[in-house]
Amino acid sequence: MANNKSLEYCTFCGKSRKGVDTLIAGPPNIYICNECIKLCNTVLEEEKTRKNFSGKSKKLPTPKEIKEQLDLYVMGQEHSKKVLSVAVYNHYRRIYSSLDVKDVEIEKSNILLIGPTGSGKTLLARTLATILDVPFAIGDATTLTEAGYVGEDVENLLLRLIQAANFDIPKASKGIIFIDEIDKIRKTSQNVSITRDVSGEGVQQALLKMLEGTVSNVPPQGGRKHPEQAYIPIDTTHILFICGGAFIGLEDIVGRRVGKKMIGFNREAADIDEKTKGDLLQLVEVEDLIQYGLIPEFVGRLPVISALHPLTLDDLVTILTCPKNAIIRQYEKMLEIEGVKLILPQESLKEIAKKALVRNSGARGLRAIVENLMLDVMYEVPSRTSTIKEITITPEMVRGEKSVLPKTTKQLEIA
Ligand code: ADP
Repeated sequence: MANNKSLEYCTFCGKSRKGVDTLIAGPPNIYICNECIKLCNTVLEEEKTRKNFSGKSKKLPTPKEIKEQLDLYVMGQEHSKKVLSVAVYNHYRRIYSSLDVKDVEIEKSNILLIGPTGSGKTLLARTLATILDVPFAIGDATTLTEAGYVGEDVENLLLRLIQAANFDIPKASKGIIFIDEIDKIRKTSQNVSITRDVSGEGVQQALLKMLEGTVSNVPPQGGRKHPEQAYIPIDTTHILFICGGAFIGLEDIVGRRVGKKMIGFNREAADIDEKTKGDLLQLVEVEDLIQYGLIPEFVGRLPVISALHPLTLDDLVTILTCPKNAIIRQYEKMLEIEGVKLILPQESLKEIAKKALVRNSGARGLRAIVENLMLDVMYEVPSRTSTIKEITITPEMVRGEKSVLPKTTKQLEIA
């Protein structure tokens, strides 16, 4: 039977054989052209990227979804959460996209988080790893030294990640490493020890390759490398590094640059209130970090920089009750199991927050304060559930002016 090729059309786009390079035949009278095949491949790749995220049939959450998840655990820090959501999304999008991106070099988006202690830097990094379901490891920059000096090799950070991934190397190679106290390895002029690289510059140098992406040889037992050891090779190209530090005094450098006269050379950092410090740190630029003592190559490998705000009294009150795992919620639940209602009026929450502010350790101090406050209650309640149905914690109790010890009355009111 004569086959009239000029009457063949792509079933998808309707173009005729003449209008396309190739037309592939399927069942009788069904055809697909090369252009539609290309389009279908793109759609499939997109699907694969989102579905095969982290090796499971799980979608890579969008930046908005990542931020919404962060909102459940991290209070305040709106701008940082947004910046991180986008950076982390781009990082994993790049890894899981098999589309050809060779013509455009997408930079690896390692992150630098600047913010006072207890403001949520570690929490942000850890929560991101949970949201993305990737292995997570924390390291402390102050324990690291360049090879040949007393201290930990930088590869030990990778070992921790490998351990978190249960020695699944492909999984580990897409994990997140949080390096805390990165400001402590700044370059300083005095270098007084011959065994320890006090200036920190050597540690920054040692971290460079790992941050950028290299195949590192990790000693499986940790500790120092030695020649006879069998190493675990791991490619760090797709590991996301998040570095955090308080960068005390950085606000002075930023202030001087932006010309705030109030933070002149004669003013001590302590004279500036926390809010002003936080506002100044929002303006931080690469040059400030270099002046602070990070070497340019190191800053260059941390293209995403975000400054967290110091937590205010209101933030601390929110942290006590709002996150999914808020400490007060946990106590409420524990007492509810005993059949006891815990009442903590707003004033009492504020009093707890005030105590934490005095400690100057951000939200870090909240848990200890609440645990201390609740100790007697948690000790007594299980054996007195028949008489205690409700417990109200008053501001006086928080201030330690009244005892929190439950009395044998029906309603425990220690005001
Ligand atoms: P750092 O900034 O020093 O890394 P962390 O993230 O370790 O601080 O915070 C210590 C603890 O304080 C966290 O485990 C968390 O319980 C609480 N916390 C700190 N910041 C926040 C925040 N913004 N929202 C909710 N909880 C917070």
